[in-house]
Amino acid sequence: MNLLDIRNLSVTYGTDTAAVRGVDLTVEAGRKLGIAGESGCGKSTLALALLRLLPASARLSGQILLDGEDVLTMKWGRLRAVRWAGASIVFQGAMHSLNAVHRIGDQIAEPLLVHRQATPPAARRRVGELLEHVGLPTARADAYPHELSGGQRQRVMIAMALACDPRLIVADEPTTALDVMIQAQILRLIEQLVSEQNIALVMISHDLAVLADTCDRLAVMYAGRIVEEGPARAVYDAAQHPYGRALSAAFPRIGDPASRRAPRGLPGDPPDPAALPSGCTFHPRCPVALEVCASEDPPLAEAAPGHRSACVLTTGSRP
Ligand code: SF4
Ligand code: MG
Repeated sequence: MNLLDIRNLSVTYGTDTAAVRGVDLTVEAGRKLGIAGESGCGKSTLALALLRLLPASARLSGQILLDGEDVLTMKWGRLRAVRWAGASIVFQGAMHSLNAVHRIGDQIAEPLLVHRQATPPAARRRVGELLEHVGLPTARADAYPHELSGGQRQRVMIAMALACDPRLIVADEPTTALDVMIQAQILRLIEQLVSEQNIALVMISHDLAVLADTCDRLAVMYAGRIVEEGPARAVYDAAQHPYGRALSAAFPRIGDPASRRAPRGLPGDPPDPAALPSGCTFHPRCPVALEVCASEDPPLAEAAPGHRSACVLTTGSRP
């Protein structure tokens, strides 16, 4: 069974603003799924929806099955328990996610004390272990967030996410605010920890190359929909959807100068979710659009084995 099974998930605001539209995605236990797309394509909304962290004005429909249990219909008490012990989230920009007035050791210990009823001495030992796991000296438990560098704070966020042994970690742009060297270290750390502990990972990034390096499978989001999904290498090296191709051209492979391609800018911006174009929502920007694209919205369909794309050019000849 899939650890995470997202079925026909939509998120709307007001009467006609669809931030996420009919998303179907699955993640097996211990596997890593990357979700790519420009900002404004619905990636963060999707990430927050997974743990029901969206504002009350958001209306969600569909199902988010975590170990077979629907997150969308969970009672509040159950949801709170699941947020730490079942699945946890690492946000971009740890400075805003950590409490400035509490020592980081106390912040890492909090979920342990709240959800697991660990005794304070046991929680303290666990904090030391977690700090070691993320490569920080145990003495840093007594530091305040402002005493740490950006990379160290992101390590603290990862320690917090690991605290209750989750089966799934959702990481939304976990390295975007950091400089390139530190980014690579943090990505390696996340990859190593989830692999060692058999934790499933959903990682969100605008950078397809980062995701291709870290994840098993990749999904590409555009205007709230998944437009391409498949094995990470196939999506990065042989994208089927014109938007997937534009993203992979824009993000050359990390650490491999020979393969660096000139970033080909994609003109324009993703559409306003309150005013989506007709037909294929990508058609106003698509370099290979056909006339039919302005009126027909192609479904996500298999374009190669295990590799789906929502484009008339890859699926149009199929029934
Ligand atoms: Fe481009 Fe048409 Fe394919 Fe949309 S359906 S991506 S507009 S070719
Ligand atoms: Mg975002």
